[in-house]
Amino acid sequence: MKVIFVGAGPGDPDLLTVKAVRLLKSCRCCIYAGSLVSPRVLALLPAGAEKHDSAALALPEIIELCRQAKKRNINVIRLHSGDPSIYGAIREQMNELDKLGIGYEVVPGVSSFQAAAAALRTELTAPEVSQTIILTRTSGRTPLPPEQELERLAQTRATLCLFLSAAKLDDIARTLAKHYGRACPIAVVYRASWPDQKIVRGTLASIAAKMAKLDIHKTAMIIVGRALERDIPVSKLYDAAFTHGCRKGARK
Ligand code: SAH
Repeated sequence: MKVIFVGAGPGDPDLLTVKAVRLLKSCRCCIYAGSLVSPRVLALLPAGAEKHDSAALALPEIIELCRQAKKRNINVIRLHSGDPSIYGAIREQMNELDKLGIGYEVVPGVSSFQAAAAALRTELTAPEVSQTIILTRTSGRTPLPPEQELERLAQTRATLCLFLSAAKLDDIARTLAKHYGRACPIAVVYRASWPDQKIVRGTLASIAAKMAKLDIHKTAMIIVGRALERDIPVSKLYDAAFTHGCRKGARK
C-alpha cells in the first residue's frame, strides 16, 4: 500500500498526464483538494471509489484516512491541483506518513502558471529581457521571508507568476510599477483551462481598474513582465548564424 500524490493539472482533464489518468481510473480511495480540482477530473474516478474532499479535513484526518487504507491494503490517491510540488502542502503530509511507515510517490502535473501562459499564448522567458521566472505569492496567513517580499523580488525584473494573490492585485500593481514601470504588461488568468476561463490583460497602471469591474478574487494566476510583450529581440535559438549541438548542419 502507498499514497500517491498526483498532480491534477489546472482543470482541463486533457491536461492530466497519462499516468494520472491511469491511476484515477483504477483508484479505490481518493483525497482531493475540492476547491481547486475540477469536477471533470474527478469524473474519471470509478463510481465505487471513496472520495474525500480535503477542504473539509484537517491534517490528522487526512493521515487517518491513509492509515485506514493501509489496514485495508488499498492505495490512496492524494489529488492536488496543478503540480503537487507548488503550494501543495505535501511536505507535512509526507512527514506524517514517514512516522507511520507508509510509503508514497509523486506524479507531477501541469501547473496553473503553465496553463496560464498557454492561455495567454505567451513565452515566459524573453531574450535580453527576462531569463528568469519567479513563482511566488504575496503574504497572507503564510508570512514571507523578508528577503522574498515582492518589493525585493521586483528588483530582478524577472517574469513573475503570482499564485494565491488575486485579492491583492491593487497592492501588487502599485509595488511592481516602481521597478517594472507603469507601462509593463500584466495579465490575470482566472481558472486557466476551465470552461469559464477569463483573461484580463493590462498594464501595471491600468489593471486595477479593469479588474474592479470583474468579480475575480481567487483561482487566478497573475503574470507580470515585459516577456508578455511581442516586440522582444529574437532568440538566438533559430538564428541562422548560431550553431548548437541539436541543430546539425546549421551554418557556423
Ligand atoms: N499546485 C498548484 C497551485 C496551488 S495554490 C499549481 O501548481 O498550480 C492555488 C493557487 O494556484 C490559486 O490561488 C491560483 O493562484 C492558482 N491556480 C490554481 N489553479 C488555477 C487555474 N486553473 N487557473 C489560474 N490559477 C490557478
